[in-house]
Amino acid sequence: MSKIIDGKAVSAAVKDEVKLEINNKGIRPCLAVILVGNDPASTVYVNNKKKACEYCGIESRSYELKEDTSEEELLNLIEKLNKDNGVNGILVQLPVPPQIDADKVIEAISPLKDVDGFSKVSVGALSTGAEGFVPCTPAGIIELLKRYDVKIEGKNCVVMGRSNIVGKPMAMLLLKENGTVTVTHTKTQDIKSITRNADILIAAVGRDRMIDESYVKEGAVVIDVGIHRLDPDKNNGKKLCGDVDYDSVFDRASLITPVPGGVGPMTIAMLMKNTLKAYYLQSK
Ligand code: NAP
Repeated sequence: MSKIIDGKAVSAAVKDEVKLEINNKGIRPCLAVILVGNDPASTVYVNNKKKACEYCGIESRSYELKEDTSEEELLNLIEKLNKDNGVNGILVQLPVPPQIDADKVIEAISPLKDVDGFSKVSVGALSTGAEGFVPCTPAGIIELLKRYDVKIEGKNCVVMGRSNIVGKPMAMLLLKENGTVTVTHTKTQDIKSITRNADILIAAVGRDRMIDESYVKEGAVVIDVGIHRLDPDKNNGKKLCGDVDYDSVFDRASLITPVPGGVGPMTIAMLMKNTLKAYYLQSK
């Protein structure tokens, strides 16, 4: 078996499963996607989400708001969508412009429609094991590990990074799968002595190719969450890289996710799954 975890293939399989279920049940879930401003990376992400919806048979409603949209205008739109029975999931593409408080926006979305899983209700549900939405990127990583038959139970899992959208929910999910979990951050002392013990190493530090072979135990499963844009002219045509120095780590790892084509495609596939889940939750 190849040691490269093919996120594109797994993502396609998950989307096909969602599509099949939607087809078989004759339902049409709906996702509202709100983009404020015209950040090029956010525009690409939003377009990819719309394409995935179309593929799966999910209706996508798109709200493209001007850069100078006020917080109140955005909150009013969310309130309207919360009340709209035809909308099952609401997603506000982050980051939002500085005049808008992202935390307020996240909390304004109804917990039943919080398909990104960022609200306090969703975080609380994840921490206590209650039913709720799990953030798409860490959920996608668990899906990758399971589909590649990586045993999590009893394994030393090290999550590098403690952000609310990746590191913390990732740690909770690995714990739920009975992994023994350590989370590292910028104040961690002698970080390599911890990461070198990891059977499963999740890199979510947001630092271009920081994790080289000196951080990795022989035979570890290495998951790279990072996404960094590169100037292809200065990087032998390469446009993207991760938090892991792939070439350095490749020989030490038993399984590894590439960038692109690893974790990235899973995020959107899990968003489709969450939207379907939102549909069911609201139909109850
Ligand atoms: P973030 O909010 O910047 O958090 C980075 C975390 O890494 C923080 O907890 C920080 O510690 C820790 N850290 C940073 N530098 C470190 C160092 N030198 N040593 C040890 N720890 C360090 O980033 P994020 O939102 O979690 O995202 C992480 C990466 O994943 C980024 O590259 C982002 O673009 C990518 N990402 C990808 C997807 C996807 O779909 N594939 C989705 C989301 C994010 P402190 O808490 O102490 O500051």
